[in-house]
Amino acid sequence: MKIDILTLFPEMFEPLKASILGRALEKNIFELNLIDIRSFSLDKHKKVDDYIFGGGDGMLMTPQPLYDAIMSVKTDKSYCVYMSPKGTVLTQNKVKSIANDVDHLIIVCGHYEGIDQRIIDLCIDEQVSIGDYVLTGGELPAMVLADAVLRYVPNVLHSDTSVVDESFSDKLLEYPQYTRPREFMGLSVPEVLINGNHKEIEKWKSEQKISETKKFRPDLLDK
Ligand code: SAM
Repeated sequence: MKIDILTLFPEMFEPLKASILGRALEKNIFELNLIDIRSFSLDKHKKVDDYIFGGGDGMLMTPQPLYDAIMSVKTDKSYCVYMSPKGTVLTQNKVKSIANDVDHLIIVCGHYEGIDQRIIDLCIDEQVSIGDYVLTGGELPAMVLADAVLRYVPNVLHSDTSVVDESFSDKLLEYPQYTRPREFMGLSVPEVLINGNHKEIEKWKSEQKISETKKFRPDLLDK
């Protein structure tokens, strides 16, 4: 998987280079390129934003630097996503389908009031939102999308079954989990998890998945 992220603020992406993803990046398990949109500006002051036609607060990212930045990486096989509050809200199913179907993902981060509509019309395959709220820029949403997708790339996680046995993988939330010590502040690990009976453990996990989902996300059961 190759991910090209187009942004005005490449320095914001350090979190993608740490921890699990950082180790996978060092081992070249995936490729990540941060492309500075400003470096494509043909303006002598490297300007990348301008006033909005028809009025309205704030500034909009101008089309030329963005278009040239996208065209510098786009091929017939690329899938170009613009992070936008107007997009389809990201779900685990959407993450899975991008991970399965896309080899080259281009993620465009807007800033200020967003980007010129003509870039969306000309270059964007899909707009993706990370939720019904508005952030200052697409950088955090791009990191959310990249992180969620990269977990499906073979060998990124310690075990490839990690993505199978967790919340949303079967439309249910995960069961409660415990580690050592067996007792902490007067609370014990459920007996069933330490008795070594795998059939009983699996039964407990299935029941807990349903009760956790009922408690925290009953809407998932309705679906
Ligand atoms: N004027 C836009 C609107 O009302 O839809 C909001 C622009 S927002 C301040 C600036 C940028 O942040 C957007 O271009 C987008 O890239 C990103 N952004 C903000 N909220 C987002 C969300 N919920 N999901 C994905 N991207 C978001």
